[in-house]
Amino acid sequence: MAKQDVRGKAQTVLGLIAGSELGITLPHEHFFIDSRCYMVEPTNPEERKLAHQKITLENLWYARSHNLTSEDNLLLDDEDLAVREAMYFKEAGGRTIVDLTCINNGRNPARLVKVAKATGLNIIMGTCYYTARSYTPEMQMDSRTEEDIAEEFIRDITVGVGDTGIKAGIIGEIGISIPMREGERKVLRAAGIAQQETGAAINIHPGGCQDSPFECVKILEEVGADLSRVAFSHMGRTFPISARGARDRLAGKGCYLEFDAFGFDVTYPTQTAEMCPYDRPNDAIRITIIMELIEDGFLDRILVSQDVAWKVILRAYGGYSHILKNIIPQMQAKGMTEEQMNTVLVENPRRILTFV
Ligand SMILES: [Zn+2]
Repeated sequence: MAKQDVRGKAQTVLGLIAGSELGITLPHEHFFIDSRCYMVEPTNPEERKLAHQKITLENLWYARSHNLTSEDNLLLDDEDLAVREAMYFKEAGGRTIVDLTCINNGRNPARLVKVAKATGLNIIMGTCYYTARSYTPEMQMDSRTEEDIAEEFIRDITVGVGDTGIKAGIIGEIGISIPMREGERKVLRAAGIAQQETGAAINIHPGGCQDSPFECVKILEEVGADLSRVAFSHMGRTFPISARGARDRLAGKGCYLEFDAFGFDVTYPTQTAEMCPYDRPNDAIRITIIMELIEDGFLDRILVSQDVAWKVILRAYGGYSHILKNIIPQMQAKGMTEEQMNTVLVENPRRILTFV
Protein backbone atom coordinates (compact mmCIF):
# COMPACT_ATOMS: atom_id res chain seq x y z
CA MET A 1 0.00 0.00 0.00
CA ALA A 2 1.62 3.25 -1.11
CA LYS A 3 1.46 6.21 1.23
CA GLN A 4 -0.47 8.29 -1.31
CA ASP A 5 -3.31 5.72 -1.35
CA VAL A 6 -4.12 6.39 2.29
CA ARG A 7 -3.50 10.14 2.36
CA GLY A 8 -6.64 12.02 3.44
CA LYS A 9 -8.39 8.78 4.33
CA ALA A 10 -9.02 6.92 7.56
CA GLN A 11 -8.42 3.19 7.81
CA THR A 12 -11.16 1.13 9.46
CA VAL A 13 -11.08 -2.63 10.06
CA LEU A 14 -13.19 -2.95 6.89
CA GLY A 15 -10.91 -0.77 4.77
CA LEU A 16 -10.22 2.84 3.81
CA ILE A 17 -12.91 5.51 3.99
CA ALA A 18 -12.99 9.23 3.31
CA GLY A 19 -12.35 11.44 6.35
CA SER A 20 -15.78 13.00 5.79
CA GLU A 21 -17.42 9.64 6.55
CA LEU A 22 -16.10 9.54 10.12
CA GLY A 23 -18.75 11.81 11.64
CA ILE A 24 -19.09 11.91 15.43
CA THR A 25 -16.10 9.93 16.66
CA LEU A 26 -14.95 8.43 19.94
CA PRO A 27 -11.15 8.38 19.62
CA HIS A 28 -10.39 6.17 22.62
CA GLU A 29 -12.52 3.16 23.58
CA HIS A 30 -12.18 -0.61 23.98
CA PHE A 31 -14.58 -3.35 22.92
CA PHE A 32 -12.37 -6.28 23.91
CA ILE A 33 -9.66 -5.89 26.50
CA ASP A 34 -8.01 -8.04 29.13
CA SER A 35 -6.49 -5.97 31.93
CA ARG A 36 -6.27 -8.82 34.42
CA CYS A 37 -2.49 -8.52 34.68
CA TYR A 38 -3.22 -5.26 36.55
CA MET A 39 -5.33 -7.10 39.14
CA VAL A 40 -4.38 -6.21 42.70
CA GLU A 41 -5.12 -9.07 45.13
CA PRO A 42 -6.90 -7.72 48.23
CA THR A 43 -5.52 -8.68 51.63
CA ASN A 44 -8.79 -8.60 53.55
CA PRO A 45 -10.67 -11.97 53.42
CA GLU A 46 -14.11 -10.51 52.64
CA GLU A 47 -12.70 -8.48 49.75
CA ARG A 48 -10.71 -11.42 48.53
CA LYS A 49 -13.97 -13.29 48.00
CA LEU A 50 -15.66 -10.36 46.28
CA ALA A 51 -12.62 -9.81 44.08
CA HIS A 52 -13.16 -13.09 42.25
CA GLN A 53 -16.94 -13.05 41.86
CA LYS A 54 -18.70 -12.28 38.60
CA ILE A 55 -20.23 -8.80 38.79
CA THR A 56 -23.91 -8.90 39.82
CA LEU A 57 -26.28 -6.30 41.24
CA GLU A 58 -25.36 -7.50 44.75
CA ASN A 59 -21.63 -6.91 44.44
CA LEU A 60 -21.64 -4.06 41.93
CA TRP A 61 -20.84 -1.60 44.73
CA TYR A 62 -17.54 -3.42 45.21
CA ALA A 63 -16.49 -3.53 41.56
CA ARG A 64 -17.41 0.13 41.20
CA SER A 65 -15.10 1.30 43.95
CA HIS A 66 -12.37 -1.34 43.54
CA ASN A 67 -11.79 -1.25 39.81
CA LEU A 68 -8.43 -2.97 39.89
CA THR A 69 -9.30 -5.51 42.56
CA SER A 70 -12.30 -6.99 40.74
CA GLU A 71 -11.14 -9.64 38.30
CA ASP A 72 -14.37 -9.73 36.29
CA ASN A 73 -14.34 -5.95 35.87
CA LEU A 74 -10.95 -6.17 34.15
CA LEU A 75 -12.17 -8.29 31.25
CA LEU A 76 -14.30 -7.21 28.28
CA ASP A 77 -14.71 -10.24 26.02
CA ASP A 78 -18.40 -10.54 25.14
CA GLU A 79 -19.17 -9.97 21.47
CA ASP A 80 -22.96 -9.61 21.87
CA LEU A 81 -22.49 -7.15 24.72
CA ALA A 82 -20.02 -5.14 22.63
CA VAL A 83 -22.51 -4.91 19.76
CA ARG A 84 -25.38 -3.97 22.06
CA GLU A 85 -23.35 -1.26 23.81
CA ALA A 86 -21.99 0.11 20.53
CA MET A 87 -25.54 0.37 19.17
CA TYR A 88 -26.47 2.82 21.95
CA PHE A 89 -23.77 5.14 20.56
CA LYS A 90 -25.01 4.68 17.00
CA GLU A 91 -28.63 5.33 18.00
CA ALA A 92 -27.47 8.56 19.67
CA GLY A 93 -25.94 9.76 16.38
CA GLY A 94 -22.39 8.40 16.60
CA ARG A 95 -20.54 7.05 13.55
CA THR A 96 -16.99 6.00 14.48
CA ILE A 97 -15.29 4.28 17.41
CA VAL A 98 -11.53 3.82 17.76
CA ASP A 99 -10.58 0.66 19.68
CA LEU A 100 -7.14 1.31 21.16
CA THR A 101 -6.65 -2.13 22.73
CA CYS A 102 -2.99 -3.06 22.37
CA ILE A 103 -1.40 -6.19 20.90
CA ASN A 104 -0.58 -7.35 24.44
CA ASN A 105 -3.86 -6.76 26.23
CA GLY A 106 -6.45 -8.52 24.18
CA ARG A 107 -6.63 -6.86 20.76
CA ASN A 108 -8.79 -9.02 18.52
CA PRO A 109 -9.00 -7.90 14.87
CA ALA A 110 -11.53 -10.56 13.77
CA ARG A 111 -13.95 -9.68 16.56
CA LEU A 112 -13.67 -5.96 15.73
CA VAL A 113 -14.67 -6.80 12.15
CA LYS A 114 -17.72 -8.62 13.51
CA VAL A 115 -18.72 -5.58 15.61
CA ALA A 116 -18.23 -3.29 12.60
CA LYS A 117 -20.43 -5.50 10.41
CA ALA A 118 -23.10 -6.01 13.05
CA THR A 119 -23.41 -2.31 13.93
CA GLY A 120 -22.56 -0.54 10.68
CA LEU A 121 -20.24 1.72 12.67
CA ASN A 122 -16.76 2.63 11.45
CA ILE A 123 -14.35 0.80 13.76
CA ILE A 124 -10.69 1.80 13.73
CA MET A 125 -8.14 -0.52 15.34
CA GLY A 126 -4.83 0.44 16.94
CA THR A 127 -1.43 -1.19 16.86
CA CYS A 128 0.76 -0.88 19.92
CA TYR A 129 2.06 -2.26 23.21
CA TYR A 130 0.62 -1.34 26.57
CA THR A 131 2.72 -0.66 29.70
CA ALA A 132 5.69 -2.88 30.62
CA ARG A 133 3.70 -4.65 33.30
CA SER A 134 1.73 -6.36 30.54
CA TYR A 135 4.82 -7.57 28.65
CA THR A 136 5.24 -11.36 28.68
CA PRO A 137 8.49 -13.31 28.12
CA GLU A 138 7.19 -14.54 24.74
CA MET A 139 7.11 -10.94 23.54
CA GLN A 140 10.90 -10.75 23.95
CA MET A 141 10.80 -7.02 24.52
CA ASP A 142 14.34 -7.07 25.97
CA SER A 143 15.94 -8.38 22.82
CA ARG A 144 13.80 -6.63 20.22
CA THR A 145 15.10 -3.39 18.75
CA GLU A 146 13.03 -0.28 18.11
CA GLU A 147 13.37 -1.00 14.39
CA ASP A 148 11.84 -4.49 14.88
CA ILE A 149 8.93 -3.01 16.77
CA ALA A 150 8.44 -0.21 14.22
CA GLU A 151 8.36 -2.82 11.48
CA GLU A 152 5.56 -4.66 13.27
CA PHE A 153 3.50 -1.45 13.56
CA ILE A 154 4.11 -0.59 9.91
CA ARG A 155 3.08 -4.08 8.84
CA ASP A 156 -0.13 -3.91 10.91
CA ILE A 157 -1.01 -0.64 9.13
CA THR A 158 0.05 -1.48 5.58
CA VAL A 159 -0.42 -5.27 5.28
CA GLY A 160 -2.62 -6.21 8.25
CA VAL A 161 -2.32 -8.20 11.47
CA GLY A 162 -0.80 -11.65 10.88
CA ASP A 163 -2.54 -13.20 7.90
CA THR A 164 -5.95 -11.62 8.62
CA GLY A 165 -5.58 -8.72 6.18
CA ILE A 166 -7.23 -6.56 8.87
CA LYS A 167 -5.31 -3.29 9.11
CA ALA A 168 -4.71 -0.87 11.96
CA GLY A 169 -5.60 2.81 11.48
CA ILE A 170 -3.64 4.40 14.32
CA ILE A 171 -0.56 3.68 16.46
CA GLY A 172 -1.76 3.45 20.04
CA GLU A 173 -2.39 3.48 22.84
CA ILE A 174 1.28 3.38 23.80
CA GLY A 175 1.47 2.47 27.49
CA ILE A 176 4.02 4.47 29.49
CA SER A 177 4.70 3.98 33.22
CA ILE A 178 6.26 6.10 35.95
CA PRO A 179 9.21 5.89 35.68
CA MET A 180 9.34 5.08 31.96
CA ARG A 181 10.66 1.52 31.44
CA GLU A 182 13.29 0.70 28.82
CA GLY A 183 10.85 -1.34 26.71
CA GLU A 184 8.33 1.52 26.76
CA ARG A 185 10.97 3.93 25.52
CA LYS A 186 11.69 1.55 22.62
CA VAL A 187 7.99 1.27 21.79
CA LEU A 188 7.62 5.06 21.84
CA ARG A 189 10.61 5.56 19.53
CA ALA A 190 9.26 2.78 17.27
CA ALA A 191 5.93 4.62 17.10
CA GLY A 192 7.73 7.77 15.95
CA ILE A 193 9.47 5.81 13.21
CA ALA A 194 6.27 4.06 12.11
CA GLN A 195 4.40 7.37 12.08
CA GLN A 196 6.82 8.88 9.58
CA GLU A 197 6.69 5.78 7.44
CA THR A 198 2.89 5.44 7.33
CA GLY A 199 1.41 8.90 8.03
CA ALA A 200 -0.70 7.44 10.85
CA ALA A 201 -1.38 9.27 14.10
CA ILE A 202 -0.05 8.23 17.52
CA ASN A 203 -2.01 7.93 20.75
CA ILE A 204 -0.12 7.76 24.05
CA HIS A 205 -1.26 6.63 27.48
CA PRO A 206 1.25 8.63 29.56
CA GLY A 207 2.35 7.84 33.09
CA GLY A 208 0.10 9.39 35.72
CA CYS A 209 2.23 12.40 36.48
CA GLN A 210 2.50 15.73 34.69
CA ASP A 211 6.15 15.27 33.67
CA SER A 212 5.35 12.11 31.69
CA PRO A 213 3.83 13.70 28.54
CA PHE A 214 6.74 16.13 28.27
CA GLU A 215 9.23 13.27 28.59
CA CYS A 216 7.37 11.50 25.76
CA VAL A 217 7.44 14.67 23.64
CA LYS A 218 11.21 14.88 24.03
CA ILE A 219 11.71 11.29 22.89
CA LEU A 220 9.34 11.74 19.94
CA GLU A 221 11.19 14.91 18.92
CA GLU A 222 14.47 12.95 18.98
CA VAL A 223 13.16 10.45 16.42
CA GLY A 224 11.63 13.19 14.27
CA ALA A 225 7.95 12.45 14.93
CA ASP A 226 5.26 14.94 13.90
CA LEU A 227 3.84 16.22 17.21
CA SER A 228 0.76 17.62 15.47
CA ARG A 229 -0.17 13.96 14.79
CA VAL A 230 0.16 12.88 18.43
CA ALA A 231 -2.66 12.63 20.99
CA PHE A 232 -2.12 12.24 24.72
CA SER A 233 -4.79 10.18 26.46
CA HIS A 234 -6.08 10.54 30.02
CA MET A 235 -5.47 14.27 30.35
CA GLY A 236 -7.90 14.49 33.27
CA ARG A 237 -5.73 12.39 35.56
CA THR A 238 -2.27 13.32 34.23
CA PHE A 239 -2.30 16.91 35.49
CA PRO A 240 -3.57 18.45 38.72
CA ILE A 241 -6.95 20.08 38.03
CA SER A 242 -5.36 23.52 38.55
CA ALA A 243 -2.47 22.93 36.10
CA ARG A 244 -3.87 25.09 33.30
CA GLY A 245 -0.43 26.42 32.34
CA ALA A 246 1.08 22.95 31.98
CA ARG A 247 -1.83 21.74 29.82
CA ASP A 248 -1.43 24.82 27.62
CA ARG A 249 2.28 24.12 27.32
CA LEU A 250 1.56 20.58 26.05
CA ALA A 251 -1.08 21.84 23.61
CA GLY A 252 1.43 24.50 22.53
CA LYS A 253 3.72 21.67 21.39
CA GLY A 254 1.02 20.90 18.82
CA CYS A 255 -0.27 17.73 20.49
CA TYR A 256 -3.90 16.76 21.04
CA LEU A 257 -5.12 16.58 24.62
CA GLU A 258 -7.65 13.79 25.03
CA PHE A 259 -10.19 13.89 27.86
CA ASP A 260 -11.32 10.31 27.71
CA ALA A 261 -12.71 9.54 31.14
CA PHE A 262 -16.19 11.03 30.68
CA GLY A 263 -18.57 8.99 32.80
CA PHE A 264 -15.78 7.71 35.02
CA ASP A 265 -16.55 9.34 38.34
CA VAL A 266 -14.90 7.08 40.87
CA THR A 267 -13.41 8.04 44.16
CA TYR A 268 -10.24 5.98 44.39
CA PRO A 269 -9.03 4.27 41.27
CA THR A 270 -5.38 4.81 42.25
CA GLN A 271 -4.63 1.53 43.94
CA THR A 272 -1.11 1.10 42.68
CA ALA A 273 1.80 3.41 43.34
CA GLU A 274 2.59 3.76 39.64
CA MET A 275 -0.78 5.39 39.05
CA CYS A 276 -1.47 9.08 39.34
CA PRO A 277 -1.47 10.97 42.61
CA TYR A 278 -3.84 13.77 41.57
CA ASP A 279 -7.53 14.22 42.38
CA ARG A 280 -9.62 13.08 39.43
CA PRO A 281 -11.96 15.62 37.88
CA ASN A 282 -15.63 14.77 37.49
CA ASP A 283 -17.50 15.36 34.22
CA ALA A 284 -18.38 18.98 35.04
CA ILE A 285 -14.77 19.84 35.85
CA ARG A 286 -13.61 18.04 32.69
CA ILE A 287 -15.83 20.40 30.69
CA THR A 288 -14.48 23.41 32.61
CA ILE A 289 -10.91 22.34 31.78
CA ILE A 290 -11.88 21.92 28.11
CA MET A 291 -13.39 25.40 28.10
CA GLU A 292 -10.16 26.81 29.57
CA LEU A 293 -8.21 25.22 26.73
CA ILE A 294 -10.64 26.72 24.22
CA GLU A 295 -10.27 30.14 25.87
CA ASP A 296 -6.48 29.78 25.60
CA GLY A 297 -6.69 29.11 21.85
CA PHE A 298 -6.50 25.31 21.68
CA LEU A 299 -9.99 24.33 20.44
CA ASP A 300 -8.44 22.37 17.58
CA ARG A 301 -6.32 20.22 19.95
CA ILE A 302 -9.11 18.71 22.09
CA LEU A 303 -10.49 15.17 21.89
CA VAL A 304 -13.18 13.60 24.08
CA SER A 305 -13.97 9.95 24.74
CA GLN A 306 -14.95 7.55 27.53
CA ASP A 307 -12.20 4.89 27.51
CA VAL A 308 -14.68 2.12 28.22
CA ALA A 309 -12.30 -0.62 29.37
CA TRP A 310 -13.95 -1.98 32.48
CA LYS A 311 -17.39 -3.54 32.89
CA VAL A 312 -18.46 -0.85 35.36
CA ILE A 313 -18.14 1.83 32.66
CA LEU A 314 -20.61 0.10 30.36
CA ARG A 315 -24.05 1.59 29.76
CA ALA A 316 -25.31 1.42 33.34
CA TYR A 317 -22.54 3.92 34.16
CA GLY A 318 -22.43 5.87 30.93
CA GLY A 319 -21.12 3.51 28.26
CA TYR A 320 -20.18 4.49 24.72
CA SER A 321 -23.17 6.86 24.40
CA HIS A 322 -22.53 8.83 27.60
CA ILE A 323 -20.98 11.86 25.88
CA LEU A 324 -23.78 12.13 23.31
CA LYS A 325 -26.59 11.50 25.80
CA ASN A 326 -25.38 13.24 28.93
CA ILE A 327 -22.34 15.42 28.28
CA ILE A 328 -23.49 17.48 25.28
CA PRO A 329 -26.35 19.00 27.31
CA GLN A 330 -23.87 19.83 30.09
CA MET A 331 -21.47 21.40 27.58
CA GLN A 332 -24.34 23.50 26.25
CA ALA A 333 -25.42 24.50 29.73
CA LYS A 334 -21.88 25.57 30.58
CA GLY A 335 -21.75 27.76 27.47
CA MET A 336 -19.97 25.77 24.77
CA THR A 337 -21.24 26.67 21.30
CA GLU A 338 -22.52 24.25 18.62
CA GLU A 339 -19.46 25.07 16.56
CA GLN A 340 -17.05 24.29 19.40
CA MET A 341 -18.80 20.99 20.13
CA ASN A 342 -18.72 20.06 16.45
CA THR A 343 -15.00 20.81 16.34
CA VAL A 344 -14.32 18.58 19.33
CA LEU A 345 -16.59 15.70 18.31
CA VAL A 346 -16.15 15.66 14.53
CA GLU A 347 -13.45 17.96 13.12
CA ASN A 348 -10.59 17.15 15.50
CA PRO A 349 -10.98 13.35 15.31
CA ARG A 350 -11.23 13.58 11.53
CA ARG A 351 -8.03 15.61 11.31
CA ILE A 352 -6.02 13.23 13.47
CA LEU A 353 -7.45 9.98 12.07
CA THR A 354 -6.90 10.76 8.41
CA PHE A 355 -3.47 9.76 7.16
CA VAL A 356 -1.03 12.40 5.93
ZN1 LIG B 1 -7.59 2.97 26.87
